[in-house]
Amino acid sequence: MEECIFCKIINKEIPSTIEYEDDEIIAFKDIAPVAPIHILVIPKKHIKSLVELEQEDEALIGKIYRIINKLADKYEIKEKGYRVVVNCGEDGVQEVQHLHFHLLAGKHLGCKIG
Ligand code: AMP
Ligand code: ZN
Repeated sequence: MEECIFCKIINKEIPSTIEYEDDEIIAFKDIAPVAPIHILVIPKKHIKSLVELEQEDEALIGKIYRIINKLADKYEIKEKGYRVVVNCGEDGVQEVQHLHFHLLAGKHLGCKIG
């Protein structure tokens, strides 16, 4: 089976601008940013989407939010705020089938969520 695009980023088979990396998680700049700061934070484990989460992934998801907090420190956006978005499935308009958390910041993002 063809490796997914985010697994290729994890394996450094395609380039990305990495903002954070450890053994379980990687964060990189979105290639088509919709805000001045638009980072994707993803587990290195290939989890397709939120619906595939298992009990063993609970700590990993908690860690992702802690990394997002660290990135918010790095970008100095804690005071002004930010938004975290996870699209899931067809109606959620998830385009890449590898769980990812969008970190959006750097402008007022408005109220629209759909
Ligand atoms: P989603 O619609 O939630 O699945 O979001 C997928 C995101 O991945 C979009 O915001 C894309 O711009 C982004 N994306 C796709 N390919 C790449 C890539 N090679 N490097 C960085 N971001 C990407
Ligand atoms: Zn993948």
